[in-house]
Amino acid sequence: MRFRSKDNPSLRVHVTAWRLLVEFQCGTIPLDNMILPAFRYHPDPLRSGSIVESGEDCRCCRKGRGYIYTGPVYSEEDLEDAICPWCIADGSAHRMFDASFVDTEAFSEDTPESAMDEISLRTPGYYAWQGEQWPTCCGDATAFVTPAGIEEIRKHYGELEGSLLSHIIYELRISGGAATHMLGSLNRDIGPTAYLFRCLRCERYHFCVDQP
Ligand SMILES: [Zn+2]
Ligand SMILES: [Zn+2]
Repeated sequence: MRFRSKDNPSLRVHVTAWRLLVEFQCGTIPLDNMILPAFRYHPDPLRSGSIVESGEDCRCCRKGRGYIYTGPVYSEEDLEDAICPWCIADGSAHRMFDASFVDTEAFSEDTPESAMDEISLRTPGYYAWQGEQWPTCCGDATAFVTPAGIEEIRKHYGELEGSLLSHIIYELRISGGAATHMLGSLNRDIGPTAYLFRCLRCERYHFCVDQP
């Protein structure tokens, strides 16, 4: 179903089977993400699975906000599935628990310090099998898109299949049939998993592959 606003012809609303999408001239944003705080370096944490709908109260603001963060929390306290996205975004969870959400080891040396701070202290992270990585491109950290298996890659990012195979061959040093087998066995939930990132400037995709 699609609606177009008479007053603002550039604004269109789609109702799909799963999510309400609002299309602006600049692109399409799911409406529920407009309710969530905006995370520059993790723009769709519902899609990536790092934030889920939940009836739990947040341990930081003590309110039930309808959503809870499910990714890693580096803190003295056990804060798994216990922090709301708003307390991550405004830095209060970091201040209250001295918590961070992405390991600083994840960044390459050329990542600007301001981006590193924003990502590790005020952005939802993601679970990788061994340790997360967060690529840099065009002088800035990239944005985390989603974990993906071969099914998601073929469905939404078909153009990445070739570069993923090269990555497996040249970076992970797996060759021949084993490389094609690994590509074919990429799986979002059981691994090996591809983690997709996108440069906020040149829009090129980056990825890393990790396995249990
Ligand atoms: Zn909260
Ligand atoms: Zn770039």
